Amino acid sequence: MIRVDEKGFYGKFGGAYIPEMLHPNIEELKDNYEQIIATEEFQDQFRSLLKDYVGRPTPLYFASRLSEKYAAKIYLKREDLCHTGAHKVNNTIGQIILAKKLGKKRIIAETGAGQHGVATATVCALMGMDCTVYMGELDIQRQRPNVERMKILGATVVPATSGSKTLKDATNEAMRQWINNPVDTHYIIGSVVGPHPYPEMVARFQSVISEEIKSQLLEKEGRENPDLVIACVGGGSNAAGAFYHYYNTPEVRLIAAEAAGLGVSSGKSAATTALGTMGILHGSKTLLMQTDDGQVVEPHSISAGLDYPGIGPVHAHLFDSGRGEFVAVEDEDAMKAGIELSRLEGIIPAIESAHAFHALNMISFKKDDVIVINLSGRGDKDLDTYIKWGGY
Ligand SMILES: *Cc1c(COP(=O)(O)O)cnc(C)c1O
Repeated sequence: MIRVDEKGFYGKFGGAYIPEMLHPNIEELKDNYEQIIATEEFQDQFRSLLKDYVGRPTPLYFASRLSEKYAAKIYLKREDLCHTGAHKVNNTIGQIILAKKLGKKRIIAETGAGQHGVATATVCALMGMDCTVYMGELDIQRQRPNVERMKILGATVVPATSGSKTLKDATNEAMRQWINNPVDTHYIIGSVVGPHPYPEMVARFQSVISEEIKSQLLEKEGRENPDLVIACVGGGSNAAGAFYHYYNTPEVRLIAAEAAGLGVSSGKSAATTALGTMGILHGSKTLLMQTDDGQVVEPHSISAGLDYPGIGPVHAHLFDSGRGEFVAVEDEDAMKAGIELSRLEGIIPAIESAHAFHALNMISFKKDDVIVINLSGRGDKDLDTYIKWGGY
C-alpha cells in the first residue's frame, strides 16, 4: 500500500525533522489542513478557481503521430495549458486558500529557477496577500525574467546571500523568516518535499491531475486505467499528482523520469534514485545526493526545475518498494525528445517535461499499450536554453 501514515511516513521516508522553533508552525498546519480542505466551502472555492482561473480540466490529448512512432496509444495530460504554463499553480491555489482560512496575512516562499516563485506571486496577487519570495543571489542573476515577473505581480524578491547563493540557501532563509513570524505568515512549499504535512498536502492538491485522467480516459478508452503513466521528477509534485489515484492500482505502471544531467556517473547530474542515499533534506527523511560525510552534492540538470539534490519521500518509497520504475534521462536526450514532440505534435514542451518523453526510449511496453505522459509545462520559459543548445 502506498499511503502516508499518521507521522507523515511513506514506508521508511518522510516525517518532520525540523528545529524545535518550527514545531508550533508545523503543528498548526498538520492539525488543521485536512479538516479545512475537507470542508465544502474550501472545495467549492478550490474547484471554482481551478476551473475559471487555472483553466481546468486540462485536456487529455491523444497524440496520434507520437503514438504511431512508438506503436502505442499515447495520451498527453496537458498541464502546459494551465494558467502560468505549468502544474505548479494547482498547488499554490490550494495553499493560498488554506492560508486565508488559517487567518494568515502574509505569504513567503523560496524558489530556485523562479517557477514556484511566479506561481506563488500569481496567487498572492489574486488573493491580495503580501508576498515575499526568497531566492539565491546567483539564481536571481540567472533567472532574470522570472524575477521581473514576480515583481510585476507585486511580490518582493529577497536575495539569499549565504552559502552557494542558490535554492538551499533560499530555503534556509525562508525557514528562518517563518520561525520569526509564525502567527501571521504561511510558507508555501512548491513540491512534494519538506516536513510533514507538506508532501502529502501538495500531492493532494496536485492529485486533481490523476482524478481528471481517470474520467477523461474512461470517456476516450472505456477504462479509467492506462497501462503506464510517465512523469518527470524534480521534487516530484507533477508526478505525484499524475500517479496519486493509481498508487494502489498495481496494473498501472508508474514511470518516473529523473534528470541524469551530463550522465549518471559524470558528477554533474540530478539522478537522485541512481546516486542518492538516505538522509535528511528540507525537513524530511528521503533519498538525496550527498557525500560520505553528509554534505549535499550540488545537482546539475539542463532543466532548472529538475535541478534538485533530492526527491520527495513518496518517490523515495515508490523507488524503494519497487512500485515505481525510475529512469535517468541525460540533458542531450531530453533536448532531442523536446524537439521530437515539437515536430510530431506541434507542442514545444518545458525541458523538464521533455525528460518524461525520452523515457519512451528507455522502457519496454507492449504494442498498443495505453500510455499517459504528464506534460507538466510549456517550453516558452526555456526558449533561451533551446536556442543555446541549438541542435534542431
Ligand atoms: C517545477 C517543474 C517541474 C519539477 O517539479 P516537480 O515538483 O517534480 O513536478 C517539472 N516540470 C515543470 C514544467 C516545472 O515547472
